[in-house]
Amino acid sequence: MLVRASIGSQAVLGITSIKMLAEPTTIYLLQYSREGCMGGCIFCPQSRRYRGGSNYVSRIDWPPVDLETLKSALRNNHEKYHRVCIQSIIKPSWLNEYLELIEAIKSSTEKPISAAVNIIGYRGLLMLKQKGVERVGVGLDAVSEKVFRRVGKPGSWNAYWRFIEDAVKVFGRDHVTVHVILGLGEKEEETMRTLRRIYDIGARAALFAYTHAPGTAHFGMRPGIEYYRRIQVLNYLLMKGWSPSELFVEDKIRPRIARMIREDPYEYLEAVLTSGCPGCNRPFYNERPSGPIYNYPSHKLLLKDKDKVAAEIRRAFEM
Ligand code: SF4
Repeated sequence: MLVRASIGSQAVLGITSIKMLAEPTTIYLLQYSREGCMGGCIFCPQSRRYRGGSNYVSRIDWPPVDLETLKSALRNNHEKYHRVCIQSIIKPSWLNEYLELIEAIKSSTEKPISAAVNIIGYRGLLMLKQKGVERVGVGLDAVSEKVFRRVGKPGSWNAYWRFIEDAVKVFGRDHVTVHVILGLGEKEEETMRTLRRIYDIGARAALFAYTHAPGTAHFGMRPGIEYYRRIQVLNYLLMKGWSPSELFVEDKIRPRIARMIREDPYEYLEAVLTSGCPGCNRPFYNERPSGPIYNYPSHKLLLKDKDKVAAEIRRAFEM
């Protein structure tokens, strides 16, 4: 069986060699299909609408690799990664193959596994749990139903929310990560509303900045850095256990929260580190290393830019 693995993951596992400014701390895998994914998401080079067969996801190369090669590389490089993330695609009988893939990976590593999966029913979620998956990620991507339709997500907006609720029931609070892309033409209030909804359910959000991927239509826009920092800090506080009602009044940030952040932006620097499952850093998934860096993949890189980032955070909350 062939599996895609991000080029950085392949380098960490010694399958290939490239120079990296930051190494991935999670091994990122993606189910393979020669024809591409049957989903039609407008921003994704894996989609069949772009003829399929592309090696890219976002701006990263994910060349296919033989499963047996991957398994022995996972076994022999155990100390080099914290987690394995296995992403599914839509193709005939994808769930059976996906479950097989999880089983094969599980037999080669003791590290926790995240399943970044297409929406499935309650029974499917239980099967993932039985296979030993620790956490579930899901690409809701859009923050409103209108954007969801515009970007061509498969399935319905309501079905995604049902899935998120079911996944929290099966995997537990804080064990479900909802991927959200900023820059798809949304309004900021919609982003706030969706953040609230995610955390009210007991899931958490992983933030992405829209980036044009090779071979796809030019669609969204890079989000403004202050807007992105604002959402990152709010997401960080929610992840730290603040409740949505402590941070927001309706879809607006409470003035005293904005003041608190403005007064000491250095307290919130960690908010700009990549968000998601523990141990997930997705280096330069959204941005060139030359910047602007939306999601910092390491503390070391963040330290270099700390004054710049603190100023961005302060500006983001001058409202
Ligand atoms: S947050 Fe990271 S590890 Fe978790 S599902 Fe998303 S990409 Fe995978």
